[in-house]
Amino acid sequence: MQYYSLAKQSPNVNFKTAAITGQAPDKGLYFPTTIPQFTKEQIEKFKTLDKASLAFEVMKPYVGGTIDDASLQQICAETINFDFPLVPITDTIYALELFHGPTLAFKDVGARFMSRCLGYFSKQIKAEKFAQSTKVEPEQIVETKDNIKNAISASKPTTVLVATSGDTGGAVANGFLGVEGVNVIILYPKGKVSPIQELQLTTCGQNITALEVEGSFDDCQAIVKDAFMDASLNAAYNLTSANSINVARWLPQQLYYFFAWQQWVAKYGDQIPMHIVVPSGNFGNICAGMMAKASGLPLGHFVAACNANNVVTRYLQTGNYEIHKAVATVSNAMDVGNPSNFVRIMEIMQNNFENLKQGLSSYSYDDVVTASTIHRVYKTNDYILDPHGAVAFLAAEQFIQEKLQTSSLQNVESETSNLRAIILETAHPVKFPEVVEAAIGQTIDIPVSVQFLLYKEKVAIPMGASFSEFKAWMLANARS
Ligand SMILES: *Cc1c(COP(=O)(O)O)cnc(C)c1O
Repeated sequence: MQYYSLAKQSPNVNFKTAAITGQAPDKGLYFPTTIPQFTKEQIEKFKTLDKASLAFEVMKPYVGGTIDDASLQQICAETINFDFPLVPITDTIYALELFHGPTLAFKDVGARFMSRCLGYFSKQIKAEKFAQSTKVEPEQIVETKDNIKNAISASKPTTVLVATSGDTGGAVANGFLGVEGVNVIILYPKGKVSPIQELQLTTCGQNITALEVEGSFDDCQAIVKDAFMDASLNAAYNLTSANSINVARWLPQQLYYFFAWQQWVAKYGDQIPMHIVVPSGNFGNICAGMMAKASGLPLGHFVAACNANNVVTRYLQTGNYEIHKAVATVSNAMDVGNPSNFVRIMEIMQNNFENLKQGLSSYSYDDVVTASTIHRVYKTNDYILDPHGAVAFLAAEQFIQEKLQTSSLQNVESETSNLRAIILETAHPVKFPEVVEAAIGQTIDIPVSVQFLLYKEKVAIPMGASFSEFKAWMLANARS
């Protein structure tokens, strides 16, 4: 399996190179040269496979031999070692809860998979370098403590730089914590992440460093962008990014569509289509679901639920793709003005607008109706949505209603009983306490799994919103 750049100006690479470099040299996103096709027999077998084995079967073709099977099995098992329950909210709408991982958001899956892949490759590269320096074949290296120490000093450590508005940083910090040979530096905007998010970013220690930037998320992102272009930083560090354009973060997101489908067919068999509503910002998550479908998983229709940042919703209505500067909303993980993964969706749809409209719908909602929906669903259905899930819930209701209206009279009965959708609940409501607690009129319990954070001490390095200050700090650190 090879990957090509969607900008078409760079050579094809394997999974290892795509994962290490993130973006192609021509700034294009990597895309697999062929989408693996699972046979009917394989899909039938997937129905009852345990999660870890299923994850291995799905990821193996994409990894394309760059990770040995035993290691990939272990990476997959570690990546998905928590629950992905499909929980009914109403008679027709279900929540696929993706917030049972260590940082309470779906980004855990991508971050955990990517971190372990980079850890694997980093170890492999060091072994190769060490072998070159001592003229022995890599296979012959015995991993003694001394050998590893020498090898580590023989190469620059991989340093992941990431700017975050909240969820990404926590998932990446947690995913990379303790991964040998990889350091992580997280830039987050001071005072602009929620208390739980800040604790997730700043209490890891070890190979994770948090920089508290006196500025906005955009400032953090600008510093990271400048860093990737800077010659002296690139000479001192082996820099890489951990955002969703990296194939190692993007592709494993397919897994929970497989897990959802397993639960769906166990309940409904093959007859009732599983329509899927995904709260979308950068469109990496929904694009992964569409890949799963393109590889043969029998999924229903896809719906992208958006907040006021609705470039894709408008595109589907008008055929005009007009990007805007992001506006701030209560579902802030979707505040993206120019979704970077949308080019991948177009590639899956053979860059054909009619195909796109067949496979994808999109709706957009403002903050007022988002908050009132959190209130309504809590009162009516006793389910606490987070702001992103609330946007998805609204889209699911609208999708079902429009489908009912457009179906012909004689179909109504069967359509009515069969029309169901799942929404992806992408984060735990406790990560957005201000909005959710105001909407439901009470406080939310902090899940036991993250209560330990409350006893930890925040450690963050204060940093001005200036690239030169950041660069000076980085270079001083590299020498020490
Ligand atoms: C990142 C994120 C999203 C958006 O996912 P994309 O893959 O960028 O579309 C939605 N909800 C939450 C809670 C997130 O953290």
